[in-house]
Amino acid sequence: MAISVEGLGSAVKGRVVDAAAPDYDEARALYNAMIDKRPAAIAYCTDEADVAAALAYGIEHGLRIAVRGGGHNGGGLGSVDDGLVIDLSQMNAIEVDAPAKMARVGGGALLKDVLEATHQHGLTLPVGIIGTTGVGGLTLGGGMGHLTRGMGLTIDNLVAATVVLADGSVVQTDAEREPELLWALCGGGGNFGVVTSFSFRCHPATTVLAGPVLYDIGDAAEVLTWYRDFLPAAPDEVSGFFAFLSIPPGPPFPEELHLRKVCGIVWTQPGEEESDALREARSFGTPLLDGIAPVPIPAWNTAFDAVYPAGDQWYWRGEFFKEIPDEAVAVHAEFGPQMPTWKSTMHLYAIDGAASRVANDATAWAYRDAIWGGVFAGVDPDPANAAAIRDWAVAYSDALKPYGMGGGYVNFEMDAPDRVHRMYGANYDRLARVKAQYDPDNVFSVNQNIKPAA
Ligand SMILES: Cc1cc2nc3c(=O)[nH]c(=O)nc-3n(C[C@H](O)[C@H](O)[C@H](O)COP(=O)(O)OP(=O)(O)OC[C@H]3O[C@@H](n4cnc5c(N)ncnc54)[C@H](O)[C@@H]3O)c2cc1C
Repeated sequence: MAISVEGLGSAVKGRVVDAAAPDYDEARALYNAMIDKRPAAIAYCTDEADVAAALAYGIEHGLRIAVRGGGHNGGGLGSVDDGLVIDLSQMNAIEVDAPAKMARVGGGALLKDVLEATHQHGLTLPVGIIGTTGVGGLTLGGGMGHLTRGMGLTIDNLVAATVVLADGSVVQTDAEREPELLWALCGGGGNFGVVTSFSFRCHPATTVLAGPVLYDIGDAAEVLTWYRDFLPAAPDEVSGFFAFLSIPPGPPFPEELHLRKVCGIVWTQPGEEESDALREARSFGTPLLDGIAPVPIPAWNTAFDAVYPAGDQWYWRGEFFKEIPDEAVAVHAEFGPQMPTWKSTMHLYAIDGAASRVANDATAWAYRDAIWGGVFAGVDPDPANAAAIRDWAVAYSDALKPYGMGGGYVNFEMDAPDRVHRMYGANYDRLARVKAQYDPDNVFSVNQNIKPAA
């Protein structure tokens, strides 16, 4: 039976969609079609007062509360069965202060919108690699991507935020005001409140030399061995993530390579002038394809969006790595070629460089000594393949556990309640104290949940 949300529509100014609405299925849909949650209602909040009103309504009526930014979370943490979804998609305004190199970004904005807006002013922000991802979830989890080695994690560029707390109060946090809250937002996920605005420090950059250099999958061990030695010694401005993937069946890829399983490195370097390091990287081995070209940053950050539209089935696992010994290379060479579907993939994001020069307790992100953030993603449009993609991601990541750091990235984990403590690593206890201060009743529980300290 549908849960009554009578009175919610008049409590918030934004639109409320309940189970009786004709577009309920559209409104409740998440990026990952493997997750099928049926909330009591979705409230499209328009400002902080709306968020506070929706929170008050949910608490008063005993509804669990989920906060939805871009809805990209693998485990569907932007929604909740029988509860109230506070949707932030209407709160997506972006203001760029070019002389100050700052961008103020609404809590429901998408990465592609931010990069487009900053690009207009010759600026950019290091974020994730798919444009339709939400700034909210990505930032609160940390944010890794093409530019991390040179510019840090997304959180390393977060200087202030506006947050609606569980009691409905609105607070500003920065280095001087509520500094523990800002510390916790930088990697502690959505545990502390609804972030309605993020203020980021931006970097002058408009174009990158970027693209994949792809090799025969039979060369995987050789390519990965070379990469694990080359990358950590390379200058910060060059970054590349190692990947197993299948070549997408369309342009710009040559037809004879379509759907071929390959391994390779997806390189990114700011500017258009090729550095010695990138030249050296491109000269390694015998690639099947070298797709490196100058490309505007917003285009590079949306280059994979068409391959991964909303509505596919996804199964995710994550793990941090400090090294990739030969035994781990062998595990990769065994499991990579077993990708069960053409969209399934494994990436090792480079998160050393600038990101590793921040102290482990300077932000809530507890893996500053990691060199790679690994993601094992089984992906396919057909629900009939859900078990196959899950089994592969689980078996692959399990086989690499002996070589990992024992923690997965907050944003790359699903159905892993036993791993939550380790996601926050050495910072968990401090996070639990901040949680007790700002959300003692655990109103914000639909996330990689931190229990308030006693
Ligand atoms: C195709 C794809 C590619 C990805 N690539 C990358 C990548 O390159 N790098 C990377 O680091 N991650 C990447 N991710 C992971 C991504 O960071 C997470 O899925 C993240 O949770 C998405 O954020 P969202 O706002 O879209 O998600 P949502 O599902 O809306 O939210 C996720 C979590 O964050 C909370 N949340 C969201 N916004 C707010 C807010 N404003 N205030 C408070 N809480 C909030 C939610 O409550 C929920 O717990 C990728 C994900 C996908 C699906």
